[in-house]
Formats: sequence, structure tokens, C-alpha cells
Amino acid sequence: MNETSAVPTAPLRARAEIDLGALRANVRALRARAEGAHLMAVVKSDAYGHGAVPCARAALDAGATWLGTATPEEALALRAAGLPGRIMCWLWVPGGPWRQAIEADLDVAVSGMWALREVTEAARAAGRTARVQLKADTGLGRNGCGPEDWPELVGAALDAEAAGLVKVTGLWSHFACADEPGHPSIAAQLTRFREMVAYAEERGVAPEVRHIANSPATLTLPETHFDLVRTGIAMYGISPSPELGTPADFGLRPVMTLSASLALVKRVPGGHGVSYGHHYVTPGETTLGLVPLGYADGIPRHASGGGPVLIEGKLRTVAGRVAMDQFVVDLGGDEPEPGTRAVLFGPGDRGEPTAEDWAQVCGTIAYEIVTRIGTRVPRVHLNG
Ligand SMILES: *Cc1c(COP(=O)(O)O)cnc(C)c1O
Repeated sequence: MNETSAVPTAPLRARAEIDLGALRANVRALRARAEGAHLMAVVKSDAYGHGAVPCARAALDAGATWLGTATPEEALALRAAGLPGRIMCWLWVPGGPWRQAIEADLDVAVSGMWALREVTEAARAAGRTARVQLKADTGLGRNGCGPEDWPELVGAALDAEAAGLVKVTGLWSHFACADEPGHPSIAAQLTRFREMVAYAEERGVAPEVRHIANSPATLTLPETHFDLVRTGIAMYGISPSPELGTPADFGLRPVMTLSASLALVKRVPGGHGVSYGHHYVTPGETTLGLVPLGYADGIPRHASGGGPVLIEGKLRTVAGRVAMDQFVVDLGGDEPEPGTRAVLFGPGDRGEPTAEDWAQVCGTIAYEIVTRIGTRVPRVHLNG
């Protein structure tokens, strides 16, 4: 064994190619839709499965001015990898790494009094001013401070600001139904957001940025852009909802292509059961292809009997159950060589299925399809 033979063979089994050129073009397209607003590239959950650090770099190259993550650990990892500029994280629990976040120059979201107390104490201990963004629950009913508790939170934040412990850098919120144009909650949330921002500003809060728009709002609701838009899924070239339009309708291109090498091709007689439970039985003599990806790799078991795969220019379907590490397709008598590429999903313009196609088969959304692709699948970043 020499050095080169030690190169991992995993990319031959399966790989998720990440087209960073497409990601940069998507960021530019989104910036053009939200002219005058900052663009926060949301790279939580390993950039929706696309690889947080390379995607964050590509987004900044294309003009994103902020990075956003859910957890502080994700944000700290970006900073540790050398990513510059503003990084915001919003999903905190008591006892979280407030001091590390302050020392790493993160913007931290605060949704309630417990969080303001913890960040203030950490700022005092660190001898620094924490950058805090107060989150309003304008109707989503998830994280954020409701209107009844807002005066207390704003008042306490102003006290902490006067003491030099925090700077309120942002006022922000999140939509419940931005992907359903005309849903009455959109206008109601927008009105409440304006009221809660006005309340805070009248009392002396001077935020750098006010923001509420996610991908669907960025694409379809210009009145929601304010000072900054937070785009996740659209940056990865996926439409937030098929009802809103296709990626191409918005000038977006899917970034991830998931493929695998056929591990085996064999001829079997009619009446042959396939995979656990024998939920597929060959209707006649045929050939079967073994795709070495399974639910451990994030291929939903709900795709059993339905997931589409492109092999040598023909669309095939998962035959029987998706197992932990592999599934089978009926090749209808064709005999591609073992090692032939099977494309599960990609941009869709070379005949391959899209992540949206898999989502429809599985009764879920494309967000879940790409985000769940597991760590056993190497990400191969192209056009960096
Ligand atoms: C995930 C997330 C976003 C991005 O949502 P997309 O629909 O993927 O654009 C924006 N804001 C918050 C608070 C989020 O959690």
C-alpha cells in the first residue's frame, strides 16, 4: 500500500457534489431581489447538508454580509474556521456558551428575560459588550418574546445597554406562513412587527438591522425585506415551496447532486422478492441494480417503492424497501456495468430527479431531503 492507495474510497460509493458556483449565483440572484437589504446566509445544520464552511465562504464571496446559524456551537465553529464578519445565532438554552459567543464577536439572539440575564452576566465576566438581537414573536408561536412581555424585555435590554454590557444590534422576528402568499397571518405578523419595533425604537433602542424575511418572503414579499433578509433554502437553489414556483422561476439552481456507484447488477427470474419484507416482486425476468445508499445516509425509508433514480439516461424507481445502507432498483433487463453512476437528485436539467421530486414521494419538503443526507456521504465541493 502506498500513499495514494490510502485515498478514501468512499467518494466512489456515493458523493454529494456541491456546486459552489451555483450557490454564488443564487446569492447574487437573491441580493438582486432584496436590493438595499443585507443578505444573511443561513448556514445552520451544516448549510442544510451542503457543508457549512465552504458554503459560508462562497456566500460571503457573492456578497452576503451576515452568516446565520441556529445553535451557538455552529456559529462558534464558523468563527474557529476563520470566517470573518457578522455571525448571528438564535437557538439558546440556559447555560449556553454566552461568554465564548461574546469573545468570538457573535450576535446573539435573546427571546426572553432568562437569556438577557445570562448574556448580561457573561458580558460582565468577559469585560466586553455583548451584541444582542431581541427576537419578537409576532405570531409564529415558537421562539421569541410575545407582545405582552416585550416592554419588560426592551426595558431590561436598555438598562443593560446603559450599563455598557450589551448593545442591541437588531430587532427581528420570523414568519409562520410566508410560503403561502395571501395567508392572513403574513399581514398580521408584519403589522405586529412594525408595532413592536416602533415601541422599542421610541424607548431608545437603535438597532443596526430589523429583519423578518426568510427565503419565501425574500422571493415573494418585498415589503418584508427591511434592513436584512435571512435566506436559507433558496441559496441552495431549492424553492421554498413548489406552489410558489420552481427554482428556475426565481433564477435559482439546485446546488447539491447526490449520486452513487452501482455496487452490483444481476439477472433474476420473475417472481423474485426484493429487499426486506419482499414488498417488491419482479414481474418477470429482469435485472436488478444495487445502489449503496440507505437510510443511514439520509435516504428516507418512506422512499421505499417510490424514490426516482437516473441510471444511463433512464429513470428507475426504488424497488422494495430502502434498507440502512442500500436499496435496489429494477433495471428492466438493462445491464449497466457495476460502478455505473446512479443519480438520485440534482439540478434536474440533465434528466435527473430533483430533491423536490424525492420530497413529493416521501410526503415531506425538500429542506428535509438535503438536510438529512448523512455524514457518511462525502461532500465534494466544486467550483470553489
Ligand atoms: C432556518 C431559518 C431561516 C431560513 O429559512 P429558509 O426558509 O430556509 O430561508 C431564517 N430564519 C430563521 C430564524 C431560521 O430558523
